[in-house]
Amino acid sequence: MNYENKNMSISYKRTIIIALLLILLVFTGYFCWKNFWQKNVISFQNEEARQASEIDVEISKKTESEAEEPQQNNVEEISESAAQKTEEKPQVEKQVEKAAENFESEKIEKNEKVVSRLVSWGFQKSDSRKIDTIVVHSTYNTLSDDAYSLEGCISQFKQYGVSSHYIIDRSGKIYKLVDEKNIAYHAGVSEMKDGRTNVNNFSVGIELIVKDSQDKPTDKQYDALSWLISDIKSRQNIKYIVGHSDIAPGRKTDPWGFDWGKIQK
Ligand SMILES: [Zn+2]
Repeated sequence: MNYENKNMSISYKRTIIIALLLILLVFTGYFCWKNFWQKNVISFQNEEARQASEIDVEISKKTESEAEEPQQNNVEEISESAAQKTEEKPQVEKQVEKAAENFESEKIEKNEKVVSRLVSWGFQKSDSRKIDTIVVHSTYNTLSDDAYSLEGCISQFKQYGVSSHYIIDRSGKIYKLVDEKNIAYHAGVSEMKDGRTNVNNFSVGIELIVKDSQDKPTDKQYDALSWLISDIKSRQNIKYIVGHSDIAPGRKTDPWGFDWGKIQK
């Protein structure tokens, strides 16, 4: 190895070292710059991104809260529906009231089943008589062609100075002619099986408008009579329900075409 080669060798080594230092410097600068970039610019970008993401969060929160609003609406709806339910309660109460009204109207209707058509004849006033018998009769109008005429029947009663307590027309409408407490003249000469006479004194008389012995009461008359008997029983201690023919045999044949199985005795 000669000197020149030795010098060359030294300068070559220097060059390589400088080159390595430069490379190291470049790399160091790069990393420093990169580090600065990451620390500041990228973090700034991240901050922006974070803020953006926070906005997103807020937006998403808002959208959540907006999404909650419908839920609140749902709650309101639920509370509304609950209110409706609480309104339904009054509706139910209304229905009950309505039912009560219907019941009342039914009671009124039942009361209206008996139309007061009080007459001024055919009875004797009484305040203390005891009633235990119902007498069922039948009658019809002979004053005109309309055998079923209520007014005709009542006019006939007036002509003879008689009356029953009640009369039931063909449609089942009940008319009260004499108060139950008074003695109506409907049975005439009469006798119960227990020997008591003057049945008028302790009985309530009910007339059904039936044309003759070939005719018979309508179903509505039977229904009305059954109801009226129950109604009288609610006020009086009724022990006997008889037909006019039962207490005046040989003299009277009514009630005509009557089926005792169709009324509750
Ligand atoms: Zn009679």
